[in-house]
Amino acid sequence: MNTAATWLRGPAATRTRFGEPLKYKGGLYRIAADTYAWMVPNGSWGETNLGLIDCRGTSVMIDTGWDLRCTREMLSACADITVRAPIEQVINTHADGDHCWGNQLFKGHPILATHACIHQMHHLQPRALNALYHGSSILRHLPVAGINQFGHYMHEMLRPYDFRGITMTDPTEGFSVQKTMNVKGVDIVITEVGPGHTDGDAVVYLPSRRVAYAGDILFVGVTPVMWSGPIDRLVAGLTFLKQLDVALIVPGHGPLATAAHVQDVLDYWHFVHEAIHARFKQGMPPARAAREVIFSPAFLRAPWARWDSPERLVTSAHTLYRHWGAPASSLPGQLAQMNLLRQQAMLAFDLPRATPLVMHQA
Ligand SMILES: [Zn+2]
Repeated sequence: MNTAATWLRGPAATRTRFGEPLKYKGGLYRIAADTYAWMVPNGSWGETNLGLIDCRGTSVMIDTGWDLRCTREMLSACADITVRAPIEQVINTHADGDHCWGNQLFKGHPILATHACIHQMHHLQPRALNALYHGSSILRHLPVAGINQFGHYMHEMLRPYDFRGITMTDPTEGFSVQKTMNVKGVDIVITEVGPGHTDGDAVVYLPSRRVAYAGDILFVGVTPVMWSGPIDRLVAGLTFLKQLDVALIVPGHGPLATAAHVQDVLDYWHFVHEAIHARFKQGMPPARAAREVIFSPAFLRAPWARWDSPERLVTSAHTLYRHWGAPASSLPGQLAQMNLLRQQAMLAFDLPRATPLVMHQA
């Protein structure tokens, strides 16, 4: 973890929510004067980093957790700050549940997000994930067409979380392109960089404190995923992030970062773009293209071969193919998504060292 940050406090756990050894220390860090990051190692599924900015006695929260327990854990670690500087504003960087399903704990306060993020926020409901969690315990015993592997993968992904009692709480204010909020004299610049990771990604930048909260356009030590695309927008967002005048960047997942980490992710997308496109031109189906790329010598030599969840390339390959005009799945929306995750799970089971190990090991 970067030395410019100071660890303040955090859980005593020596393992991640998925039982992995910690790659860095989790908890609350001061990353600049009155500016904080809640870091959740190792940045896997739902191990989402959150932010808190104390603007002279009023705090702004960046993102909320995947469930209420995760969000409350962060809030209790920040209690000595928020008693002096209560949270009066929330910003959601994008619509994935692990960045906004804790919003209900801030009901009544203004919540800001891009219009595109707000539009996408109901694409998945907590009760659907709760049903999938319970259903997956049956599916994991059906050894047909990778359904058991899909069941196991989803069950272990969702096991650390509790989606009961979550009321979707929408942002109260939307914006497009860019918005600068001045909170008691502190400028917070929120820039729309999506669509890319999702439809409405945003980056939060504090010029006076030289930090940025990247949301999920930046993963560190964890394989990034592109649900929405196009890749050009994602690359443009990362390029924008890289040129900001900052000492530290808080990624959506993974340890605190600098511009060099942003370059690593740009290199990943450049590699993936070329490698998947070559296979698209050969008429290869996207899941097979992802599998071939992951087992290619060039991929295995690269640093990203050791990143968490390499199998996410299946999702990104499907997104790339869609933008290149490949016909959409004949399955209806949510089923197509499940089928894609089934292909992803099957690949994870063929990657014995891919972390989190629990997702593909009995
Ligand atoms: Zn996300």
